[in-house]
Amino acid sequence: MCGAVEYEAEDRFLYALNCHCSKCRRTTGSAFKPIAGLRPDDFRIVHGKEELFTHGNPDGIHDRHCRLCGSLIYSWIAENGSVKIHIPMGTLMDPPSSRPSMHIFVGSKAPWYEITDDLPQYQGFP
Ligand SMILES: [Zn+2]
Ligand SMILES: [Zn+2]
Repeated sequence: MCGAVEYEAEDRFLYALNCHCSKCRRTTGSAFKPIAGLRPDDFRIVHGKEELFTHGNPDGIHDRHCRLCGSLIYSWIAENGSVKIHIPMGTLMDPPSSRPSMHIFVGSKAPWYEITDDLPQYQGFP
């Protein structure tokens, strides 16, 4: 939001989806979080690395925010020996070639929000 932190991501997303879990709703203040997933090699912070703060387990799953404006920049998802970067798609400045293809954690979606598209819906992980 403030421009202190900038990243570059290759347009080689492994998946894109809308997550309705309570954490994604709270961190964005929105009905859901559109997420694009990619390999760590395809992502780098090009500016403002020193302005990042970590929320969560530094050795496992964590979010990194800009400490100046609070924007969520990315999530580090380390599970079962592999790592993925999750980018909140609202932070992308150029349109990606991928579009969200499903809704996940619909079992905990906001009751005041109605999904009106025809994408597949999953109660939790697909
Ligand atoms: Zn989520
Ligand atoms: Zn900022």
